[in-house]
Amino acid sequence: MEHDERRVRPIGINPMSPIGQAVGGPSTEPLVYVDGEFVPQHEAKISVFDHGLLYGDGVFEGIRAYNRRIFKLERHVERMFRSAHAIQIEIPHTREEFAGLIKEACRRNAITNGYLRPVVTRGPGDLGLDPRKCKQGPSIIIITVSWDTLYEKELYERGLRLVTAAVRRVPPQSLSPSIKSMNYLNQILARIQGNESGADEVLMLDMQGYVSEASADNVFIVREGKVLTPPTSTNLPGVTRETVLELCAELGYPAQEQLFTLFEVYTADECFITGTAAEIGPVSVVDGRKIGDGRPGKTTTHLMKKYKELVTTTGTPIYE
Ligand code: PMP
Repeated sequence: MEHDERRVRPIGINPMSPIGQAVGGPSTEPLVYVDGEFVPQHEAKISVFDHGLLYGDGVFEGIRAYNRRIFKLERHVERMFRSAHAIQIEIPHTREEFAGLIKEACRRNAITNGYLRPVVTRGPGDLGLDPRKCKQGPSIIIITVSWDTLYEKELYERGLRLVTAAVRRVPPQSLSPSIKSMNYLNQILARIQGNESGADEVLMLDMQGYVSEASADNVFIVREGKVLTPPTSTNLPGVTRETVLELCAELGYPAQEQLFTLFEVYTADECFITGTAAEIGPVSVVDGRKIGDGRPGKTTTHLMKKYKELVTTTGTPIYE
């Protein structure tokens, strides 16, 4: 039989649209905003002395555009400014100006549906890690790509397979998970383990053994009619997580923040992850244990539908 790559390739992250590769965007080279200028992608550069590169000293956001609108733009900009403030980076713009720059980056790249990546680093310094040496001030980068989905459609229908990482989520005593910093090694170590076992995402536990979050997503379970997610003391306060909690209130699903263990995940009726890129991803298997009947649950499916409606009908217009 002839080798048919489409048939033998396991489903998973959509290979046609990894984040960063344009799907059906403008045919001209994308423009990237770097330090006050829009430049063609291949010319977009920052210094090798930038402390973002040398030390992961900086913050970033991941934002989506749907139907010529940016979803929850203000919430993402707010989180970015709070992250920057917490590490004493002063962004030389107001929140409104920064949101305006993100919109402008979308306009310059004719974004209809896309993924947007603002990054603010400490800026160039010397080889010492002292932030006071970065006298030039922060580097500001905004990358936009035309993009539509993280996982293949089939995966949203079948459900994601998760494994639990051996490494624990870095505790808030060491680094606040509310700071969306440029240092993701903790999550990357978890993801490497997930890749080794062919998982779609990786669950991470906190230092006490409670479920914290996934490598780039928040986690929810549904048990006995209640929608539960861990408090954000050990995980990133996700914009999608916040949106799902609002949707639950609107739709009349009792929802609360609560610590839970892997036992509660394994024996949950439903489980799902949330994130700007993944949106709401139903989870069908965790560490080889089937969740519920092993298919996306009723509450999850309802929330997925409502979330889709929300992202495609609300948001900050790009072209007005
Ligand atoms: N946790 C981590 C560690 C993340 O990187 C992300 C993605 N930003 C999330 C959770 C989900 O956050 P959001 O819904 O704001 O994308």
